[in-house]
This record gives sequence, structure tokens and C-alpha cells, in this order.
Amino acid sequence: GRCVVAVDGPSGSGKSTVSRRLAVSLGARYLDTGAMYRAVTWAVLRSGVDLADASSVAKVAGETDLRIGTDPQGYGVTADGVHVEVEIRGPEVTSAVSAVAAVPAVRAILVARQREMIAAAGRIVVEGRDIGSVVAPDADLKVYLTASEAARAARRSVEDATDVAVTAADLARRDRLDSTRTADPLTQAADAVVLDTTELGIDEVVARLRDLLTE
Ligand code: C5P
Repeated sequence: GRCVVAVDGPSGSGKSTVSRRLAVSLGARYLDTGAMYRAVTWAVLRSGVDLADASSVAKVAGETDLRIGTDPQGYGVTADGVHVEVEIRGPEVTSAVSAVAAVPAVRAILVARQREMIAAAGRIVVEGRDIGSVVAPDADLKVYLTASEAARAARRSVEDATDVAVTAADLARRDRLDSTRTADPLTQAADAVVLDTTELGIDEVVARLRDLLTE
């Protein structure tokens, strides 16, 4: 039957690995909403519009044909037919994504798309920042993953093959932008289960979430 799991938390909290593994173990689909904000950011950068010009940014977001797969074992992301899986992880997109994600009209477009994809999938693990609070407030399970800043920076620098000090500074900057914006602040859903993954292995976190689902 239908089963929607919302996994929110900051970058480096283990969200992506945990969400993909949980989806595989449940035989569910998986949606990486961060990849959608990143793909729109790629299109905005390519268009050359000023990042500070919210209406132009929103216009690009509305005109971009964004497609993303939901296979937890490997999903494609295209923007206007261009495969952007590699570029959306690069430093240009990473440093611009918070500004693009702060534009309310961009969020409205992507949230609507995300809700359609969730409805179509039925069984799905969705990861992001606002899934339990905004995108899928009726999710069957809402999880908020956290980890110490040091653990998050260490994980991200391994994933991105970048220097840990650079990664730590970038994470701190993005956390600040993501948590201080006025439109749609990224709030933790009041009914989310909070799990600190600093000392927990991936398998332990996945096992805990599976237990919570069967309770
Ligand atoms: O999770 P990831 O690091 O790929 O997300 C990239 C950025 O996209 C975040 O820093 C945040 O600005 C934005 N985002 C968002 N809402 C989501 C997912 C991501 O605003 N649901």
C-alpha cells in the first residue's frame, strides 16, 4: 500500500545515503528534492540571469523542462534534455543553490512537482529540507536527521572530494542561508522523529527507521 517517508535534515546529516538505503529495503521509490533545486540552479546559471533578480530566476525555473528519476539505485536528472548529474554536484551550483531555493516562486513550482511525483509513486522515500513540514505533511513517517558540524563536514568532504575546511565553511554558509530566509523557512515538522547520526552507522539508522514504520 501507500507509504510516504519524509527525510529532512541539513547537508551531511546522512540523509541521502539513509534515504536511498531505506527505499531499497522497502522496495519503494526515492526522490532527491535537493537535486531538483540543484538542476534548476544549473539552468539559472546557464541562462546568465542575475541570481538576485527573483522574477527572472523564477521565469527560468518555470520554463525549464526538469526531469528526475526515482530509482534509489541510480536516478538520472536532466534539464532541457541535458544530463546534469555531474554538474549539479559542482562548486558553481553548490554555491548558488541556496539563493535560487530562497525564491518563493521557485519553491512553489518544485513543491507542486514533488507532490505529483509522490502521488504517482505511492511508496516513496523523499529527502529534502521541507518534506515533513510543507511537501508531504501527511507522510506516514517523518524523520529529521542531524549530526555534529564536524561529522557533517567530514562526510561531505569525502563525498565531494574537497578539502574538509572548505567544506565546513561552505556548509556553515548554506545552513545560515537556508535557515534565515524569510520565505518558507525550513522548519522541522513538529511531529518528526529526530535522530542524531553522529555516532550511528548507516545500517543502524536504516534499521531504526524500519522499526518506526512497523510500530
Ligand atoms: O540536499 P542538498 O544539499 O542537495 O540540497 C541543496 C540545496 O537545495 C539546499 O542547500 C537548500 O538550499 C535547497 N533545498 C531546499 N529544499 C529542499 C531540498 C533542498 O531548499 N527540499
